[in-house]
Amino acid sequence: MPSSHIIHRTLRSDPPLALRGEGVYLYDETGRAIIDGSGGAAVACLGHGHPKVVAAIKAQLDKLAYAHTSLFSCEPAERLADTLVGHAPGGLTHAWFCSSGSEGNEAALKLARQYFIEIGQPQRTRFIARRQSYHGNTLGALAAGGNAMRRAPYAPILSGAFSHVSPCYPYRERHSGETDAEHVGRLAAELEAEFQRLGPGTVIAFIAETVVGATLGCATALPGYFPAVREVCDRHGALLILDEVMCGMGRTGTMHAWEAEDVAPDIQVVAKGLGGGYQPIGGVLAHRRVVEGLASGSGALAHGHTYQAHPIACAAALAVQEAIAEEGLLENVRRMGALLEARLTERLGNHREVGDIRGRGLFWAVELVRDRATKEPFDPALKLHERVKLEAYARGLACYPMNGTIDGKRGDHAILAPPYTADATQIDMIAERFGDAVEAALASAR
Ligand code: PLP
Repeated sequence: MPSSHIIHRTLRSDPPLALRGEGVYLYDETGRAIIDGSGGAAVACLGHGHPKVVAAIKAQLDKLAYAHTSLFSCEPAERLADTLVGHAPGGLTHAWFCSSGSEGNEAALKLARQYFIEIGQPQRTRFIARRQSYHGNTLGALAAGGNAMRRAPYAPILSGAFSHVSPCYPYRERHSGETDAEHVGRLAAELEAEFQRLGPGTVIAFIAETVVGATLGCATALPGYFPAVREVCDRHGALLILDEVMCGMGRTGTMHAWEAEDVAPDIQVVAKGLGGGYQPIGGVLAHRRVVEGLASGSGALAHGHTYQAHPIACAAALAVQEAIAEEGLLENVRRMGALLEARLTERLGNHREVGDIRGRGLFWAVELVRDRATKEPFDPALKLHERVKLEAYARGLACYPMNGTIDGKRGDHAILAPPYTADATQIDMIAERFGDAVEAALASAR
């Protein structure tokens, strides 16, 4: 047993201590600078120690740390909601804040269910989600997710209200010779068939990550996919919930990933890039008609948490969002994202064990395979993703690798999600160290 009294993610060894962070760098207990190439799990969108955010947290702490939402609202929460939905992006007009992405998804699912109760359709009790998706680790969010590995131990205690259809993952799911339009048509038909199977008027919502994060590794949808599934939802009177916990809040180069997809959701969940890791915060953004449904019915959301709309968390998130706007960071995400794509492609694009390089904005993943022609994954026992993580760390890079055994039919992948503030020199350094780490990990696994 290791010496730490914390139940770490591994109980076989203690992880290194992160002692401080500054800009794109984290410093461990040996004083070594580690370039934060993934912001943890695509969280630290402003990097570390951003002075505006640090000052906002301190100022809010001096004013008010906590006031219970059964009696009060607070200034930073009101201002954060104004910033996010005051201009009604895609018709989203209201926000609700919690402390994590899982809590956000739980709330989104319950909000959607309550909406249909309020408007007189209580017979809607089902959700459709996608295989190879991740919506969080709490029981409701886990039931929504299609990450087979994470679900497996809890399968007997997960809600049966969720069924799953194929994700949009053309690298492995496209049939030979199928065009983009044909592939999208097949996926929409599969969703339609699931609505039919469940029966008319029984589905509350279809939930999907706009760009699939950890489970597939930055898998963007094909053009036309989201409009096609939106049309199926609309025809069945069901809501569209987009989980942008990982891909939202600027990560893919637009504030919301759905802006690039020609759709808007009825309910959206955000988290990581909302507060950039400065405070634990997640949020649910809801379309006007969903909130009106509740307002003209019972008049209250039947859900809440002790720490919802927490003043310090909201003050931090507000400062993060203001910094993104003031510093023109979405533009930097697009420019640096194009550079990261180019560098990864130069370095790894022709590698016989690199199956796919995919992503958008500053959200990129590389899927590793034994043979790019057959797409055969590496033996999971080799733990290739772990090797990539350790080789990267040895080279002073933090990245976010993920197991290929999630469903037994994909390669291990690793995500890069640098801070929106990264410059060209830092992107070059991230791509170079990552390329070296991947080469070394592959060499050790052959
Ligand atoms: N949804 C997505 C798409 C995520 O990537 C994650 C976390 O990685 C979650 C939900 C859960 O968020 P949290 O870990 O903050 O509970």
